Amino acid sequence: MTENAPIRQDIRKCAGCGKPIIWIKTAANDKWIPLDAKPERRMIINAEKKAESVTTWLPHHATCEKVEDFR
Ligand SMILES: [Zn+2]
Repeated sequence: MTENAPIRQDIRKCAGCGKPIIWIKTAANDKWIPLDAKPERRMIINAEKKAESVTTWLPHHATCEKVEDFR
């Protein structure tokens, strides 16, 4: 987990599928979006062209079975 990881209190249940999600604002436009609560370790290639390990979260829209409920 990284320092900026959401705290446990931020975790909610999806109204559609009941899975744990985190509501968080995007840096791009300050809009609230749901993310899957469970983080994933991924690699990025940084500015020095070296692989770097990062913690990422998937948008819940990508995994929710009840995604139609959001639209
Ligand atoms: Zn869901």
